[in-house]
Amino acid sequence: MNLGLTDKVALVAAASRGLGRAIAAELAAEGAAVVMCARDERAITDAARKIAAESGATVVPVRADVAERAGVERVTAAALDRFGRVDVLVTNAGGPPAGPFEAHDAAAWESAFRLTLQSAVELARAVLPGMKARRWGRIINVTSISVKQPVDNLILSNSLRAAVTGFARTLATEVAPHGITVNNILPGYTRTERLVALAQAASAREGIALEAAYARWESQIPMGRLGEPRELAALAAFLASERASYITAQSIAVDGGWIRSLY
Ligand code: NAD
Repeated sequence: MNLGLTDKVALVAAASRGLGRAIAAELAAEGAAVVMCARDERAITDAARKIAAESGATVVPVRADVAERAGVERVTAAALDRFGRVDVLVTNAGGPPAGPFEAHDAAAWESAFRLTLQSAVELARAVLPGMKARRWGRIINVTSISVKQPVDNLILSNSLRAAVTGFARTLATEVAPHGITVNNILPGYTRTERLVALAQAASAREGIALEAAYARWESQIPMGRLGEPRELAALAAFLASERASYITAQSIAVDGGWIRSLY
């Protein structure tokens, strides 16, 4: 299938490793030029160099913290300076810390807001005028299975990702007449460093072996295994493509069947 991405410019946030990196690699493999950011200059530069070497695409690394407005400005300005446009925006960031309600003070909620909701809103704000002018755009938010079935002990993530979903659903309606789609990808338990950190937190909290934490997740997944980042990245590439022109306002899980709801 020709995804029609060879003349497109993609901006992938939070992409030095994990899901963001896999999405950047998939879009580059499909021929898109990619601007990718993370907070660590060396990590994002290394990741970009490897993706460029593997794909032959133009890949531009930018050091930027998307939880800060200045970081969003930095990465979007870098993309617009270099290419003059962003056709595909993938919003992504690290996950907010785990823990129950009592574990998080007001400052923790504000940080989670900036990391999860503000980053998605401000990235969209920066690229939408150009997408509207060109009457073509794809916005893809990486959220979580927790928006359909909240995950225990992740109260910050469960709350803020629901907010991103409300934002995306409303924005999708507003920008649909301009040829812009807005969709969310819901990762299930996918083998990244974030998941290792969650397994370590569960192991320390409950006094169980690390393997037991993984086994518990796997037992809840009909496919009986964790997901791989490239399995999620494949959906991102499709949603970014010309072919996905009539798919908008959707939240699509890549979770091996973990979510038990009908919708
Ligand atoms: P990860 O921790 O492995 O990678 C996160 C990436 O984001 C890294 O490159 C990191 O440098 C970058 N990053 C983090 N905070 C940033 C910031 N403020 N500004 C710029 N870059 C930043 O995480 P992951 O597993 O790839 O997850 C990506 C997102 O998907 C997270 O929000 C996570 O909570 C969510 N998610 C992951 C899973 C999973 O199983 N992996 C499941 C559900 C949801």
